[in-house]
Amino acid sequence: MTVCTRFAPSPTGFLHIGGARTALFSWAYAKKHGGKFILRIEDTDVERSTPAAVQAIMDGMHWLGLNYDEGPFYQMQRMETYKKVLQTMLDAGTAYHCYSSKEELEALREQQTLQGLKPRYDGKWRPEAGKTLPAIPKDIPPVVRFKNPQTGVVVWDDLVKGRIEIANAEMDDLIIARADGTPTYNFCVVVDDFEMGITQVIRGDDHVNNTPRQINMLNALGATIPQYAHLSMILGDDGQKLSKRHGAVSVMQYHDDGYLPEAVLNYLARLGWSHGDAEIFNMQQFCEWFDLDHITPSAAQFNTEKLNWLNGHYIKEANMDVLAADITARLQANRTGPSRAPVLNDVLALYRERANNLNQLARDIAYFYTLPQACAADVEKHITPEIMPAIQTLSEKLANINWTAEAIHHEINAVVTQYELKFPKVAMPLRVMLTGTAQSPSIDQVMALLGQKETLARILPNLA
Ligand code: GLU
Repeated sequence: MTVCTRFAPSPTGFLHIGGARTALFSWAYAKKHGGKFILRIEDTDVERSTPAAVQAIMDGMHWLGLNYDEGPFYQMQRMETYKKVLQTMLDAGTAYHCYSSKEELEALREQQTLQGLKPRYDGKWRPEAGKTLPAIPKDIPPVVRFKNPQTGVVVWDDLVKGRIEIANAEMDDLIIARADGTPTYNFCVVVDDFEMGITQVIRGDDHVNNTPRQINMLNALGATIPQYAHLSMILGDDGQKLSKRHGAVSVMQYHDDGYLPEAVLNYLARLGWSHGDAEIFNMQQFCEWFDLDHITPSAAQFNTEKLNWLNGHYIKEANMDVLAADITARLQANRTGPSRAPVLNDVLALYRERANNLNQLARDIAYFYTLPQACAADVEKHITPEIMPAIQTLSEKLANINWTAEAIHHEINAVVTQYELKFPKVAMPLRVMLTGTAQSPSIDQVMALLGQKETLARILPNLA
């Protein structure tokens, strides 16, 4: 049987970290087995579903490169299919009309609660051999209920959580279509998983409770039961439930916050899954390795430091032109176009070794393209009156050399010797004058890139 997995988000919000990991695992499983990966939009909650959320989910998947082979299928566009299957079930007697009124069900619920029982449907309209059903009321449009088996157990070997058994006696007859004819959530999932030929259902473990009901309905439809893998939740850095602060935000926020998709993917892949102690691997490698046996059943904990570390790795490894295009966009967003020399690629070659965030990288190099503003404390600390004669001498010498890092280095050394100083005494004020900060890569390389004219122009105002 061809492997077929699906990602089935409800478009009620962004694609957040948990959803992205579910999508990644489903995608990787299909890839590994040469199967199909389907995107299905579960938009039957019309009140809460929005086109903007659909777009946000697709943007997130696109950014991560999680391409689907089929879809997106929208459940709202599949109503006719659901209605047909409903009718088949009614005809087969695996579903039935229930005319219990809201008031009646409410009273039943109250009575059960008072008796300390779990509220459940009493089976009034459930057809049974030898049972006479009540007379059908005229003014009540019926709902459709699934005729859940009443004995036996539902068992499945969850690929993450192990064997799970639920007694049928614990389940009542689920409403699968409302009085207005619209099918309900669990029913749509079942019809879709069946018709789309899903072989592995990989999803969050908030759906574990739906699984026995879904298996019963799939059985009633004569479907082959897919395998289920319920992924544990992701906790924040602090061990608490994910919140807006860490990860419950859109994956696109990670783009905005300076992360490369490669880093986010690699990070997500290790969130609850492992392959020995491998930490850094690309998606091709991941798809070869990925299996459902090495997913931990316990909750995974978010670790921002590790994500940053991976991001640093992928920034160093990035294709230079791709990196330059990304940084150009970030510079422009800050109204700093890399419009003049030096060439951005050369600047990045000098800087990317020390970066683990794209926004930080863009901020760090902005001084090449716009005049930096040093903070007063740095100016006061490093640009002291005592050092100015040495800087004056240096700038005169720099005006007359062939502009290479080696030649610049040589001149700085000469001045350091002449004034009997330590190298940083000269390098630090230069950094502050040229870059606006006291941290930069080696100052001769910075100056070489900045250019002779620009370097001297930035030193000059300090000499007055
Ligand atoms: N639509 C459900 C959700 O977004 C997922 C259902 C499923 O994967 O079966 O949580």
